[in-house]
This record gives sequence, C-alpha cells and structure tokens, in this order.
Amino acid sequence: MTTAHASSDAFNRPAARFTADGLDIRASALGQCRRALWYTATEQPVTNPIPPESLTLLEAGNALEPVVVRAMRRSGWRVSPADRDHPVSVSVEATPGLTVTGHPDATGSPPSAGGAPAAVEQFLFGDAEPNSPNEDIVIEVKTRGPEAFKRWRTLGAERSHPESVAQAACYSLGLFGECRDVMIATLDTGSRTWDYEEIPAARAERAWRNASVRIEALAEHHALNGPDPEALPERDFTALDWQCKRCPYLNLCQPGGAGETQDHGEQTEPVSDEQARQALREYEQAQARIKSLEADKRGALKTLQHWLQGKGERKARLEGSAKQRTVGMVQSRRYAVDHTRLNALLEPEQRAEIVTEQVSEYLRVS
Ligand code: SF4
Repeated sequence: MTTAHASSDAFNRPAARFTADGLDIRASALGQCRRALWYTATEQPVTNPIPPESLTLLEAGNALEPVVVRAMRRSGWRVSPADRDHPVSVSVEATPGLTVTGHPDATGSPPSAGGAPAAVEQFLFGDAEPNSPNEDIVIEVKTRGPEAFKRWRTLGAERSHPESVAQAACYSLGLFGECRDVMIATLDTGSRTWDYEEIPAARAERAWRNASVRIEALAEHHALNGPDPEALPERDFTALDWQCKRCPYLNLCQPGGAGETQDHGEQTEPVSDEQARQALREYEQAQARIKSLEADKRGALKTLQHWLQGKGERKARLEGSAKQRTVGMVQSRRYAVDHTRLNALLEPEQRAEIVTEQVSEYLRVS
C-alpha cells in the first residue's frame, strides 16, 4: 500500500495501464468490463468516443462534488476533502501483479449526537484532530441523476453501485492500512438533495474482496499473454447491456453491435419518418384533449366536495345522468420506508429478499 501526492492530471489517467510490476487499474474503474480495461491498457484506438453531452454531464457531476462536501459540513459533518490540485494518490495491491490506484474524495466523520458543526477548511490528512472522538473514515462522494439516486437509496450501494463500495474500501486500505467503515455521500443532480449510506467495515471489505477476485482474472491474463493487444479477455457484457452501449470500444469489440435493437415482435413493418411525425402529432392532440378533460373533471369534483361539505356529510347519494351514484370522501394512506436505516441494519442478501426490483420499459415523449 502506498500513498503520495499527485498532480491534478492524475484524475485523467487511463482506467488501466501496464506498470513495471504488472497491471494498474484506476479505482473508479473497478466495475468496468475487463475486456474494455484490456483495450485501454494496450492503448487500442477508441472507436466510439464519449458524446460531448455525456462529457458535459460527467464534468457537471465532478464539479458538484465540492457542493456535497459543503452541504455535509453545514449538517455538522467533519469533512476533509482532497486538494484538487494535489490529490492524495493511494495504491493498493489487489493480487500479485495487479494494483488499484485512486484518489480519495474526502475523509471525516458524521456529526456526533448533539455536536456542533465543525468549520474545518483543511485538506485530506490536514485536519485530523488529536483525540478526536470520531475516527476518520473514507467518504466517497458521488453525484447521480434522479433515477440512479432513487435506485441507490432504495437498494443500497452494495446492490446498486457495488464498485463504489469497493472503491471506498480500497481508499480505506490505502489511507489507514485497514478496512474501516466507509461512507457513500450522494447528491441527486435533479432535486439537488443529498443523502449518505454508511457501510460497516466487514461489508466494505467483502466488496473489496469481490472486486479483487473479479479483476484477478486480468492479472492472470496478463501473466499468461503479456501485454498482447490481440489476446483478448472474454467479454463481460453483451451489445444489449448499457455498459456496451456506452463503451468507447464497442465497434472494435462487437462490429455491428451498435446497430442491434431489441425486437419486441409488435411492429414488423418499417415506419417512415413522416408516419412517425404524424403519430407524434396525434399523440400531442390526444394529450391536449386529456389535459382539458382532466381540468373539467377536477372542477366538477371540487363543486361536489363543496356541496358535500355544505350538507355536513361525508357521503351522499345523487342522481347522475344514467344512475344514482354515491359521492363520498375517502381516506388514502401511504407508508414510507426509511431506506437509509433499512440499508444500515440489513446485509445486502437480506435486503435483496425484502426490497426487490422490477424493470419495465415504456415509451416516453417529452
Ligand atoms: S463492447 Fe461491451 S464487452 Fe466489449 S469491451 Fe466494451 S463493455 Fe466490454
């Protein structure tokens, strides 16, 4: 395990590269496809560059990380963020011949019960208070879009983004020489709200072990083939997975894969652009009619509610156009689950039995 101060260029280093001792993987790339990591290490040309709008999203997410740190401090956290010009670099051996290197976002500790906010402005390693009641732990700061944020909060980081837990565990090993509890602090870029999840040390260590076992295959591949760009590891994903759709080597790895689409077997005849435009216009007209009908419905219900209140009743019968109907107040009740507390209390396997995930697909016009 090593730590050192690096320059700000360190954030732009490749996801994988060969070193004198073997292979080095960037900690934030721990969950990446192993074949894609091999393409990067062997310096293959990028065939599907990241589109400018995705780069903008990525940069906006990075730029918001200091905002999360400031929000945490306002909530009473003691946080020491990395110095962005000279970040601390940690390197941990995952397996012989393979290191994982990265730059921790921050260290610190949650507010102690009833504790006052600490106005600490020093950088990582700079503010450790002697005899601090709270031990410093790694804080991994993430920004996510609304859907990913909801998924993380509901399922917990180990199920939604296991690579981020392994990344934080790696930083803990690199900084403290042991796997302590780690904290994942996440900002929803849609609502600009943030939340956190604390992963106990044992679970963080398990995430690191799982990630190490996964990338161990790359070290073995390297030991067997050397840095041969022609000897490719197996693919981790298929053309239909989002990882491949966003992969910078898609056309190199799966020529023609980019054009594959899912066949739902519903419409076999090709639809022309003009037919699609006509369908969109019909959709817009239908939406306008629905909105106007909804407004009429809300107005009528309001009148009926006032009528009922005027009678001092919660339910009454009234003659409709075809039959007598009951007009009445009904109560609806909602139940909320505190996912932060649930995630802290249960192991990921237990949560998987309780919080299940269903994925459906639909067409949205916005
Ligand atoms: S296209 Fe898919 S399988 Fe191929 S390298 Fe990229 S992520 Fe891996």
